[in-house]
Amino acid sequence: MSEQRHERHEEGGPAGRRVVVVGAGMAGVQTAVALREQGFDGTVTLIGAELHQPYDRPPLSKAVLLGKAEHSAFDVDFEGLGIELVLGREVLGLRPADHELDTETGPVPYDVLVLATGAEPIRLPGTEGVPGVHLLRTLDDAERLRPVLARQHDVVVVGAGWIGAEFATAAREAGCAVTVVEAADRPLAGALPAEVAAPMTAWYADHGVDLRTHARVARVEAGAVVLDDGSRLPAEAVVVGIGARPATAWLAGSGVALGAHREIVADACLRTSAADVYAVGDCASFPSGRYGERLLVHHWDNALQGPRTVAANILAAATGELPAVYDPVPYFWSEQFGRFVQYVGHHADADSTLWRGDPSGPAWTVCWLREGRLIALLAVGRPRDLAQGRRLIEAGRRMDAEALADPARPLKDATATP
Ligand SMILES: Cc1cc2nc3c(=O)[nH]c(=O)nc-3n(C[C@H](O)[C@H](O)[C@H](O)COP(=O)(O)OP(=O)(O)OC[C@H]3O[C@@H](n4cnc5c(N)ncnc54)[C@H](O)[C@@H]3O)c2cc1C
Repeated sequence: MSEQRHERHEEGGPAGRRVVVVGAGMAGVQTAVALREQGFDGTVTLIGAELHQPYDRPPLSKAVLLGKAEHSAFDVDFEGLGIELVLGREVLGLRPADHELDTETGPVPYDVLVLATGAEPIRLPGTEGVPGVHLLRTLDDAERLRPVLARQHDVVVVGAGWIGAEFATAAREAGCAVTVVEAADRPLAGALPAEVAAPMTAWYADHGVDLRTHARVARVEAGAVVLDDGSRLPAEAVVVGIGARPATAWLAGSGVALGAHREIVADACLRTSAADVYAVGDCASFPSGRYGERLLVHHWDNALQGPRTVAANILAAATGELPAVYDPVPYFWSEQFGRFVQYVGHHADADSTLWRGDPSGPAWTVCWLREGRLIALLAVGRPRDLAQGRRLIEAGRRMDAEALADPARPLKDATATP
C-alpha cells in the first residue's frame, strides 16, 4: 500500500469507512477493484479462505487442467490499489448487530460488509475421503487432476452438466478413456429442455465419450464405479460434477436471510436482510425485474457485473444518493467437445423455442420467445448471434419469427416492424 494512499485512508468521514469483502474469488476481487475504480477512498479489506493468490475459475476446466496454463491468477495490483488482501483466513461467523465478523484468528470489524463466498461443489454421498474421487472447483482440485490426465487413466465423470462436459472434453483430449454417468435422460437436464439438449448428446459419442443416461451410482470401489443396475465401470479416477450450492453454512445464526437453495437473499440493489451488508456472485440470489422471478446465477459474468452495482451502492449509501438496481441479462459460455456454446438471457418452460440452423451441424442457434419478444438464446459456434441477440434482449425487441428462423439473415435484421 502506498504512503499516500494509506494517509488518505486514515482521514475518516464517509470516505474513510471500512469495507470488508468476504471471499476472494471473482465477485470479491471485482467488488474491491470496482470500489477503487469508482473512487471509494476508505479502507478495503478482502478476506479469502484459499492460500493462493486470487484466481479465475473458468480456465480450471480448460487450459489449467490440460497444463496449457500454469495458473489463472487475476492480473490485479492489490497493493497499488490499496486493497488489503488477507489470504488463507476462513471467516467463521457474522454478528451484524456488532458489525463484526469472526475469523480463525479473531474478530474483524466492518462498517460495510460484502458477502462473496461463492459456491461449493455438491459431493456424491458416501465418497468423502475415498481415494481417487475428485471435485473440480479450486486450483488445488485442478492440480490434483492434472496427473490423472497425464497418465491417461480410465475416468468416470458423474454428472453431464457444464463441468462434467468440460472435464470430459479435456480428459479425451489428454487421451483418457471417459465414461459419463448421468441420472437424467440427457445432458444438461437442469438447464435446457430435451429438444435443445438432444443434439448435444451426440457430441459425447462423436468425441469417444461413453455417455450413460438414466444411470445412478450405487457405490465407488477401488478402481471401479458400480451403478445401481449392477454394472461396473473401470475407474482409476472419478470426477464428480453434480452441481454446486452457495457457500453460506458459516452464516448460520447470523440472521442474514437465506433462500431455498441456502443462497443469500439479496434485494434488487444487492443488499441483504442485515443493515450495511451486501451479497454478490454465486452465493446470492436477486429479484429480476426483467424476468419477473428471483435468479440465482452461477456464472462468471454475474460475478463481474454484480460487483459494479455493489460498489456503486456502497458509495451511494455514504452520500445519501438513491441505490442502483441490478437487473442484468445473464450470460455464460462453455467450451465443450470442440464447440463454443454461449447462452444469454433467461427462459422458462412456457416460453416458445425457434431454431436458426441445423442442430446436427457445427453451428446453430436456438431462440426463446415470450409474447413475440426475444428473451433468451443459446448459440453454438455462432458468436455473432450471441452478440446481436444480447442487445435485442436488453432492448426487449419484438421479433419477426420467419426472419429469425433464417440463419443466413443477421439476427439484428430479424426484428418485427412496429
Ligand atoms: C471449473 C469451473 C469452470 C467454470 N467455467 C465457467 C465458464 O466457462 N463460463 C462461465 O460463465 N462460468 C464458469 N464457471 C463459473 C464461474 O467461475 C463462477 O460463477 C464464478 O467463479 C463465481 O465467482 P464468485 O466469486 O461468486 O465465487 P467463487 O469463485 O466460488 O469464489 C468464492 C471464494 O470465497 C471463498 N470463501 C468461501 N467461504 C469463505 C469463508 N467462510 N471465508 C473466507 N473465504 C471464503 C472461497 O474459498 C472462494 O475462493 C466455472 C466454474 C468452475 C468451478
